Amino acid sequence: MDAPLSADARPAPLVDPYARPISYLRVSVTDRCDFRCVYCMSEDMHFLPKAELLTLEEMARLCGAFVRRGVRKLRLTGGEPLVRRNVMWLVRELGSHLGRGLDELTLTTNGSQLAKYAGELAAAGVRRINVSLDTLDPEKFAAITRWGRLDQVLAGIDAAKAAGLAVKINAVALKGVNDGEFDRLVEWCGRDGHDLTLIEVMPMGELGGESGPGDRLAQYLPLSMVRADLKKRWTLEETDYRTGGPARYWRVKETGGRLGFITPLTHNFCESCNRVRLTCTGMLYMCLGQDDSADLRTPLRASPDDAVLDAAIREAIARKPKGHDFVIDRRRAGAAVSRHMSVTGG
Ligand code: SAM
Ligand code: SF4
Repeated sequence: MDAPLSADARPAPLVDPYARPISYLRVSVTDRCDFRCVYCMSEDMHFLPKAELLTLEEMARLCGAFVRRGVRKLRLTGGEPLVRRNVMWLVRELGSHLGRGLDELTLTTNGSQLAKYAGELAAAGVRRINVSLDTLDPEKFAAITRWGRLDQVLAGIDAAKAAGLAVKINAVALKGVNDGEFDRLVEWCGRDGHDLTLIEVMPMGELGGESGPGDRLAQYLPLSMVRADLKKRWTLEETDYRTGGPARYWRVKETGGRLGFITPLTHNFCESCNRVRLTCTGMLYMCLGQDDSADLRTPLRASPDDAVLDAAIREAIARKPKGHDFVIDRRRAGAAVSRHMSVTGG
């Protein structure tokens, strides 16, 4: 690992055309997953040929380039980041930037491999993780994830806690599926010390069929309704806690826990958007809600000198749009954005 660069030697930070500094990079390390959540993937998903993926060394080089240009937070996601072979090498490599430009290294995971990796994650400098868990009912869990087992994920969360990692639970709100369970999730998270974020289902990627498990129009449950319902039983106190993203947080007075709501279908967070997303093939998406992307794999492979890569990154950031175009069209259950969430990792 190189010595930290002095302020003069560091390249200029990345700022987009709307004067938003780009300080947060989310990296999808694989499009593969050991689950097949109904809102995210079809059961017979086709994955990319391995040859198209960036190597872990290439990902480390790209992330390093972003950190030198002002990115202070890295989140690994996927697909399921912990199913990529040798992913802990990448985690350790990225962890070496902590305190040298990077403030936080974190990941979003389905939790299935956490029992195995929690200790190594903590040793590499990871302090907080997001675990996606939509229900505490084993049968519903199996129905939502198709291939997942709740006990395995709960054991993973326990291992994460034992390793000293703070765990935030992310749950997608699904009408007719887990809408009777939010009280239980709020109570469990409050008792076990996890923040909880509820997420509105987003229209990304065709999942096959208007009335099948992938029908997001039927699953769409506005969080304004969920919050109004929760307020009948819980005292929700507004907080000014922000993570730079779309979540708004409340404090649940009865449990002391934090409760967030991510409503991506509103535009109210775009003006403070500080993030871009890198896919496992090296495409950079400047907005979760738009299809525009920039190829960073070609400049990355063109030269070992970062000047070519730097020019490509700057050109991409100059194209970051002002806001997104998500609409759940009430007459059309299709996808507003054609790629699947597992491409950019949410
Ligand atoms: N496999 C990891 C996981 O499940 O946490 C990381 C990748 S997953 C794509 C990231 C997040 O996106 C998860 O919290 C998942 O619930 C969410 N997600 C996937 N498809 C979604 C959709 N159509 N709408 C809203 N959230 C979605
Ligand atoms: Fe896999 Fe995460 Fe998508 Fe579920 S949400 S299928 S765990 S990538």
